[in-house]
This record gives sequence, C-alpha cells and structure tokens, in this order.
Amino acid sequence: MGSNKLYTLRKIYIALIRSKIDYGCEVYNTASASIKKILDKVQTQSLRLCTGSMKSASLKALQVEMGDPPYEIRRKALITKSFLNISTFENNHPAKKSIQDTATFEFYSKTVKRKPFTLIAKDTLKGNNFSENNVVIYRESPIPPWHFTVPIVNTYLKDYISKKDLPHLIKSEANIMIDTQYKHHLKIFTDGSKDPNSNAGCAFVIPELKINKGFKLNNHLSIFMCELTAIYLCISWLQDFLPFNVVIFVDSLSALQALKIPLNKIRNQFLLDIHFLLRSLYHSGTNIIFEWIPSHVGIQGNELADFHAKQALSFQNIYIFVPLFKDDFKTLCKNLMKKMWQEEWDKEKDRALYQISPKINFDIKIPKMSRYKERLIFKLRTGYIPLNKHLYKIGISDTKLCEECRVEETVEHFLLHCKLYNTERSILFDSLRKLQIQNFQLKNILTGYNFLPIDTYVKSTNRMIL
Ligand SMILES: [Zn+2]
Repeated sequence: MGSNKLYTLRKIYIALIRSKIDYGCEVYNTASASIKKILDKVQTQSLRLCTGSMKSASLKALQVEMGDPPYEIRRKALITKSFLNISTFENNHPAKKSIQDTATFEFYSKTVKRKPFTLIAKDTLKGNNFSENNVVIYRESPIPPWHFTVPIVNTYLKDYISKKDLPHLIKSEANIMIDTQYKHHLKIFTDGSKDPNSNAGCAFVIPELKINKGFKLNNHLSIFMCELTAIYLCISWLQDFLPFNVVIFVDSLSALQALKIPLNKIRNQFLLDIHFLLRSLYHSGTNIIFEWIPSHVGIQGNELADFHAKQALSFQNIYIFVPLFKDDFKTLCKNLMKKMWQEEWDKEKDRALYQISPKINFDIKIPKMSRYKERLIFKLRTGYIPLNKHLYKIGISDTKLCEECRVEETVEHFLLHCKLYNTERSILFDSLRKLQIQNFQLKNILTGYNFLPIDTYVKSTNRMIL
C-alpha cells in the first residue's frame, strides 16, 4: 500500500466500519451504557490497527491523533442532525410523529427509562442556544414552475479573467464592463458576511443614490445563505421602487448558480421566495440582470457592500430571520460535535499528547510517511513508547527513571536532555536548525515533517527496538 498506509487504513475504517456503527444510532442509542461500550472497543481496535500502536495506547489519544471523535459524542451530533432533518417536514409527514412531545412525556412520567432521541437532540441544541424552530419547513410552491421566468444570470467576466491576473487589471476589466454594458442600468451591489463566532450579516448598496443598507442576520447561516439573503432583501426593497432596468452585481458564483437552478428542482424554500419576488417585479415591468463581479480587487461598489455587510455583524438587532437549510445545519451539527469533543479533551491536560495537540479537529495529525515513521511519530507524540516511564506504567520495567540521569525517562528527556546521547543530539539540533526551527519544544519538533531528523536521532541512539 506504499507510503501512506495510515491514510488508506483510516479510509477503509470510515467506509466499512464507522458507517455501519453510525447507521441507526438514533434507535440503538437508548441501549444501556455497558452495551454501547462494546462499540468503543471496536473504535479502539480499529484506530490501533491504523496507527500500528502499542496495545496500551489509550482510546482518547488515538481519537485525537486520528481525528475521530468519541462515539458517544458522535451519536449526539448525528441524533441532533436527524432530529433537525425531521423537523423540516410538514406536520402531516408520518416521520414527524417520532419527534412530537409524547416521547418526552413518557420519559418524564417514567414509563421509559432512558432519554429518548428527541430529548437528547433538544438538550444538545439548547446548550448551544439553538432551537428546532429555526429550521426551514419544506413546502411545495403554491405557483406552478412554468409560471416563473428564469432570471438572467451573467458571468461574463469569469471567462475573461483568471485568479492569476493582477488585481488592478481585474479591477479595470470589471469597471469597463460596469460602465459600458450597464451604462443605463440602476447598479446595485450585494454582499454577505460571516465571522468565526457564526454571526452573519448582509448588505446591498446603490452608490449613485447613496443608499447603503446593512442587515444583521441570525447566527449559524452559511455564507451562501447570507449572499442569497442580500439578494432577497435587495429585490424586496425594489418592489416599492420599480425601476426599469436593474443590474445586481454579486461576487458569489454559488449564489448566482443557485438562481439558475430550474424551478422544479429547487429544494430551498428561500430560493423559491426569491423567484416569487422576481416574478412580481417582472410583471411590473422591471428588468433585472444578475452579473458576477470578482471580490477583493477594489471595485468601489463591491468594497462598499462588503464594508456594510461586515459592519452589520455587530448590530444589536436581527433584521430578518432566515431559517436554516439542510446544508446549514449539517455544518451546525459538525460544529457542535467539535465543541463537545474539545470540552472533553480539555479535561485531559495532563496527557503528553495534550501538550503537543491541545486543539482537536477531524484530520489525521500525522503526516504522510513510511509505515515505520508513522508508527514512531505516533508513539513519540503520545508517550506510549518503550521508555522507562511508560514501561513502568505497564509493568515491564521496575523503574520509571533513566538509568544514567536518575530522572523520569519521558519522551522529552530522551529527545532533549538525556546525557547519554549528547553527540547524537547535537546532530539532531543542527538538522532542526536547518529546518528553521529555533525553539526545541516537543510541540514544535513532533509536528509534520519537522519530525524527520528525529527519526534519524532515534535510530542512532539504539535506545529501543521498535
Ligand atoms: Zn537520561
């Protein structure tokens, strides 16, 4: 399997094993804790095989190194996602019964022992200031699709410029288009914005009329939805104004592509609302063209819209509430999973691995290398390695001290301080300096390809058989 067995094995694990464990977890989650523990053993065994680690390696460290969250947390997030999915159905949908309040009632009246699916989801959401009432409910359009006009969406500039072009060239190319093709149009610029705390905002501006409108939106929206909301608010504003020819400049290709989706294929209620508004504008004689422009190259209107969308992020009041769609709450549930896992990991501050990898994520932390090196770096990072500190813990050595220096033989001692290997270490430090590493801390040298000189060091010391 070549040089990245770890990555291949993890793919196989996710496709063939974890997918089966995920399946139906909404139902089996009410099983007792001891039964669910059996599944944790499956995770331990799978991840241990992937990393080729010692039997004594702990599950928590394996999870962090492999970017695979604890199953208990994973189940909570998956349950929440299914719950939100069901919440999007109309009330007469048969699945909707499964999340209605009878289940909760049964739990509190003690006719069932364990928390039902609905309650787990609701609690998870409540802890994160979110409610199932914030998701969209999918309905069919009251107007048949053939009564709508497909909007004109141009992406003329996209074929003329490439990302490699210099910003000022792109800018002048765009300004020429704006001033020639749309000389007699009312020019509107829209933009959406989002910050890392999942605040969302959007704006539209009309520079020639000095109209700048920024709006704060509800949290957890995707940038795609912020962009669409900007378009929505802009065309609903136009209803009172009814100009003849309008061009709306949008810097998001995905939002423009969404406007081109045939109406019978639209699953996003919000897009239907946009088409509904557009339809009434067309009927009133307003011609609207959507045109793509590149962002961050200094086009005046676009910069202004960007500014007002960003400013709206800090507004107090939410102007319009946009319900969350499937893609949005998929991201929401993934973020919830990450948050819950991070809280668990923060309780493990004493671990060797926590010092090197305090932040969890869903990626493998070990770079692609040969199998031998993959295993070695895993052992060094987690401290599950045949050095006396660990050997003593698992009952193989009768001391945890280094025989020469009489201090605990940890990974740090072995790599950075042990007197026995001063010669080998000076070679190691030279190679590290060549990699521009000045600060010889474990978290710096046991990360990514910085690890390569350490492999040479470990071999030259002959301290352990791996
Ligand atoms: Zn020593």
